[in-house]
Amino acid sequence: MSLPLDREEIQHLTEELEVIIAAHLAWFKHINRALVCASPVNKADLADDAHLRSPFGLWYYSHDRHPLSENLDFQNLGEIQQAMHAATRLALLEVFDKRRPDAEIYDRCIDLTLRLNTMLRRVQLEIIGELLTTDSLTGCASRRGMLTRLREEQERALRIQRPCCLCLLDFDRFKRVNDEHGHPAGDAVLRQGLKFITGVLRKYDSIYRYGGEEFLICLPGTPIKDAFQVIERIRSGLERLPIRLPNGESLSITASFGLIEMHPRHPVEEAIANADMALIRAKENGRNQVEMWDAE
Ligand code: GH3
Ligand code: MG
Ligand code: MG
Repeated sequence: MSLPLDREEIQHLTEELEVIIAAHLAWFKHINRALVCASPVNKADLADDAHLRSPFGLWYYSHDRHPLSENLDFQNLGEIQQAMHAATRLALLEVFDKRRPDAEIYDRCIDLTLRLNTMLRRVQLEIIGELLTTDSLTGCASRRGMLTRLREEQERALRIQRPCCLCLLDFDRFKRVNDEHGHPAGDAVLRQGLKFITGVLRKYDSIYRYGGEEFLICLPGTPIKDAFQVIERIRSGLERLPIRLPNGESLSITASFGLIEMHPRHPVEEAIANADMALIRAKENGRNQVEMWDAE
């Protein structure tokens, strides 16, 4: 599982998109001028590969792997842009031959240009929206929107007839870390601990910051026995993970876990409450262990 974008990346991408939107609109102004006022046509816009030469194209196709390459709206931008250039090229060729472009083609140019602009704004808003759903300390998802996403996982589990597990994780004796080493040390534990955990999780798993030093892991498509092994790997790995503190020292940390297989039709809140009961049992039994919720 990869971490979502961090704050700096979000800010950088937001500004990058602002520049691209401005460049796209400037390109559009130039094209529209050529179409309406018959002002000189830019040769690059008549080429077969015009989509690669425009400001948008130079940006979009210049990256081997853009940080947004998995975003569906980002992927759709390319298709819209190519259709826009195809229509624009047809209209410009008419102007080039001293004819007026067909109204239908002109409309298509305008519609696709505006659509590309709208889509770019949408991608930008989606990125900004991530700020609201990302925990700034650990980079994992925040609690906002968590229940909605868990309900979606539950519905999916029911549809594909595969179990989905939830696990609550709570760091052990965490207050002591803060008391003995200071709050920045506690922050370092959370940051490095979560980096390790997200590294163990699979691509389709998700993790939310549920409370202070408490996190909720969702393991879709996983029977509880397999989920136990994943969580046990996290538990034993955490125990062995050297946490580097801001003062150069190292410390180790453990966590306790309450694991449950979600009932496909019972409320998600009930599953979380039961995972919490299992977690309490893990604490009572001595911490640094995984407890499975038993419905009996
Ligand atoms: P237990 O093993 O029973 O879970 O004990 P605990 O000390 O971990 O639990 P307790 O609930 O008593 O303390 C949790 C502490 O976590 C208290 C709170 O100040 C600290 N904490 C919560 N969020 C953060 C954070 O973002 N950074 C730091 N440094 N500490 C935090
Ligand atoms: Mg704790
Ligand atoms: Mg706690």
